[in-house]
Amino acid sequence: MSEFWHDAGCSFHPVSAPDYLPIDQLRALQLHRLQVITKRAYDNVELYRKSMDDRGVKPEDIKGLEDIQKLPFTTKADLRDNYPFGLFASPMNEVVRVHASSGTTGKPTVVAYTHEDIDVWSSVMVRSFAACDLGAGDIIQNAYGYGLFTGGLGAHYGAEALGATVIPISGGNTDRQIMIMQDFQVTAICCTPSYFLHLIERAGEKGVDIRKLPIRAGVFGAEPWTEAMRQRIEPLADIKAYDIYGLSEIVGPGVANECREQAGPHLFEDHFYPEIIDPETCRALPDGEEGELVITTLSKKAMPLLRYRTRDITTLLPDPCACGRTIRRMKRVSRRSDDMFIIRGVNVFPSQVETALLEVEGTLPHYQIVLTRVRDLDQIEVQVEVTPEVFSDTVGAMEDVRKKLGLAIEHTIGIRVKLTLVQPHTIQRSEGKAKRVIDNRKM
Ligand SMILES: [Zn+2]
Repeated sequence: MSEFWHDAGCSFHPVSAPDYLPIDQLRALQLHRLQVITKRAYDNVELYRKSMDDRGVKPEDIKGLEDIQKLPFTTKADLRDNYPFGLFASPMNEVVRVHASSGTTGKPTVVAYTHEDIDVWSSVMVRSFAACDLGAGDIIQNAYGYGLFTGGLGAHYGAEALGATVIPISGGNTDRQIMIMQDFQVTAICCTPSYFLHLIERAGEKGVDIRKLPIRAGVFGAEPWTEAMRQRIEPLADIKAYDIYGLSEIVGPGVANECREQAGPHLFEDHFYPEIIDPETCRALPDGEEGELVITTLSKKAMPLLRYRTRDITTLLPDPCACGRTIRRMKRVSRRSDDMFIIRGVNVFPSQVETALLEVEGTLPHYQIVLTRVRDLDQIEVQVEVTPEVFSDTVGAMEDVRKKLGLAIEHTIGIRVKLTLVQPHTIQRSEGKAKRVIDNRKM
């Protein structure tokens, strides 16, 4: 990518050109790629050959984009069942890298890349960073974990291809992160939003005001977060907080990223074809309706996935974006169907609790939800940190926060919860993905 022309100070990066394709050209490109990838999957992956044969579908039956609905879905269980290399469509001598994500039960899920796949991944990361107005001259602190997790290396190669200076600091060691951020005059950071909050807090304890540093952007992802969380983070650090979306099964980070409008991540849909389905009936839903995001990798060589069910709940936004990109946006993913828990028959997402608590002054964005079962009755406790001012104030201030927060949560999720207000630093900080729900109910 380095041979591309790119003027310093120019806000348009040449690699971002596909973001602005005329819609009919984009759809024609998607159809062509869908036909090629369907054939590749059918010819090289036993799972797809078998499931398509079972449905009586042949690659030639894909004549229009709507024919994607004839194809089978892929789930995380399919990846687990074919562990480790059963879904590869390339011979091993063409696979140049594998990554894996930790499974909640037993074996991890494995993904693979050819040289071309790595190039595509870098290009969508360049498009992600460029959408955040980052470019050559920026110094990017990459605090995503390096290793089998896709976050670290994905952001790393993207930042290099962008022409920025990347600091491969990886996750953890917060004091060193703060030192590097100051000394190296970092202008942007990549990490989870919850880890960045932890970093701001630790910097404050050390007398470092992040607002006074050159950092101006955060590219935050790898966990669901809410708009309310962004409203908290931005003024605390005087940065713009952008939402990056991705998942290792599809490529890693860089499936979608917000532009300067911060109005939902743009999907790089020339490589990742999105659909929204009703998660119960699996029926396809039109743009504008909320459901489960399903993605087909249109260009992945080593491990093409047809109609992968992400479990992420979102909406494809039909309106054009003010930035001029023609690729569609989706609503930020603030909940996953996997994260949902059922308490006394009510479906609850951690993001609903997060939104409610961030509306109440005096709370800190550190919280945890603890589920227990007492005499066959489910109990939900929300532990929330409050500001030192509230905590050290008279009982009156605590009671005031408790009352407002109790009402806000009850209003949002429809049930009353036990609220425990705790002093700052009580809830364990995460260096990666925050653990919001502790379920101690015996199954
Ligand atoms: Zn935009």
